[in-house]
Amino acid sequence: MESSSACNRPAIDAPASGVAGLYPEQERIDSAWLAALPQAAALFAFVDNRIEVVAGNERFLAHSQAQNEKGRPLVPADCWNVILAFVHSDKSSEWFESRREGKLGPEYFTCTLGRIPGADGRPELYLFTASDRTNERAIEKNLRRELLSDGLTALPNRTGFGEEIDDRLTNSVWPENAQFGIIAIDLSRFSRVNESLGPMAGDELLITVAKRLKSSLRQGDVLARIGGNDFAIFARLNNGLSDCLHIVQRIKEALSSTIRLSDLQIRVDCAIGCALSTSLDDDPDDVVRKAQAAVKIAKRSGKVEIYRNGVLKEAQRRFSIESRLRDALAQGGLTLAYQPLIHLHTGEITGFEALARWDDPELGRVPPTEFIPVAEESGLVTPLGRWAAYEAAQALARWDAKFGTALPVSVNVNLSPIQMARDDVASMFEEALRYSGVAGNRMTAELTESAIVADPDKARKLLFALKDLRMSVAMDDFGTGFSNLASLHTLPIDILKIDRSFVSNMLEDHDKAVIVRTILSLAESLNLKVTAEGIETQELAHALQKLGCWQGQGYHFARPMPEAEAFDYWRARWNFETI
Ligand code: C2E
Ligand code: MG
Ligand code: MG
Repeated sequence: MESSSACNRPAIDAPASGVAGLYPEQERIDSAWLAALPQAAALFAFVDNRIEVVAGNERFLAHSQAQNEKGRPLVPADCWNVILAFVHSDKSSEWFESRREGKLGPEYFTCTLGRIPGADGRPELYLFTASDRTNERAIEKNLRRELLSDGLTALPNRTGFGEEIDDRLTNSVWPENAQFGIIAIDLSRFSRVNESLGPMAGDELLITVAKRLKSSLRQGDVLARIGGNDFAIFARLNNGLSDCLHIVQRIKEALSSTIRLSDLQIRVDCAIGCALSTSLDDDPDDVVRKAQAAVKIAKRSGKVEIYRNGVLKEAQRRFSIESRLRDALAQGGLTLAYQPLIHLHTGEITGFEALARWDDPELGRVPPTEFIPVAEESGLVTPLGRWAAYEAAQALARWDAKFGTALPVSVNVNLSPIQMARDDVASMFEEALRYSGVAGNRMTAELTESAIVADPDKARKLLFALKDLRMSVAMDDFGTGFSNLASLHTLPIDILKIDRSFVSNMLEDHDKAVIVRTILSLAESLNLKVTAEGIETQELAHALQKLGCWQGQGYHFARPMPEAEAFDYWRARWNFETI
């Protein structure tokens, strides 16, 4: 602390006449009161345009740090102006914070001032106290640092990222027409590393990735870890998208070489989404959300995605579908619709395909083509798939009970590749059949080629387990995926379902007709049955029947319908021709 002479203020070096020393008894009482206070405390007087220390406790002597030549303490320099303003005001009390440079760094104090009216010829006095807050400030600072940064990588977290962006936007000089960009990066296979190598390896991977991403930054860019496996970069863009794509290129290069984790070399796959501000006035949180929406699309497309209008709406819609679907599954808000499967030669109803239906009070009717992908992405497809299998088996049991004996029909249930990868589908069916008392040969599992390609060993085990339950297996949407023809031969598959995209316009499109005929002859040589999807006209039904196709499904016969209607439909046509 500086002495009074170094400050541009009136001298307070000696007690003014009529103050200190003149009322020894009073001073003794004052000193006793001050000594009882736990913080630095002193009494000041303002006499002859000078502020004087009338009395002070031990802590104040230590706090004041400056003394006059007679050894009397001086008013702390950092408080002087506030004290003077208080003296000239009509306030009865005041508090303020002061900061000064101490030997070990900045020191912080909370100070109070109170007015003590003068009496018996004594001037008005001012009670000053100062409480040391330096330790609290240090704790606050550490807590704040923890609050704003990610403990693992030491990068800013989501909140810290927002603060860093605000700081850059307000405290640095930006050229005219400058923009900023947010680049969101999602480590695609991170959860698999965590699951297979353990969380320590996952942590190591994140630290290495953080280091590599940091190396691709330019000065002034900010890298943050804004979620488990989500990173984001704030970048100043002088040349708009082109600057942004340069950074993306550097990120890709930084992540292109493999990372060593225990004994393995791991290649890091990431999805990248970018969003650009239109001006520096854009809300940064908004731009971060747009980049996150773009990265979600990038996860599906496998390309770098730049946010475009509408994407955020799409992301919001997916988000509300996910949360509403979670509720719907918990509260029984989904139903199954049943679409008849028709034997093309005899016209008999051989079975029904069970298709999930969802009519939400808020979102209205949401088609499965929209909610199944959301369910797959969010993991909800596992409970959804379980529900569908149980519900379909129960429906069969209810139809049997209504009819008095087992109906000669089976029900097809769709399986998602994600559900097959995550759930024990064989025991799910085993339980569904056991609870409903329905024989296994009345249920068919419909799976897609992608499920077999994703994990052939797992698919093989599952299909044989389904056979043990006497269930049938159908390959859905056949022709649209990458079929491994060998697997058709070696796996216990019973039925190929030709995708609607080949069937519906095969009469007009020669190429489509060729594909359908090829699938039919392939199936014949492999001894597989074929169902044609999407039969919308009688003409098409006849053409397929002539080509030897076993079974058909489509709007020409019937649309998917509720359980009771499906029963009535079957009951009305039992033993009758349907074509
Ligand atoms: P999918 O398994 O290929 O089901 C056939 C789809 O084609 C159904 O659409 C059906 O309504 C429709 N369809 C049938 N005949 C015709 C026709 O003649 N013309 C036209 N234009 N369409 C026809 P839907 O019900 O919208 O289901 C779409 C997809 O959603 C299903 O395709 C299936 O992949 C999936 N899905 C539905 N329910 C479930 C479920 O419970 N679990 C799983 N994992 N997926 C399901
Ligand atoms: Mg299907
Ligand atoms: Mg299909």
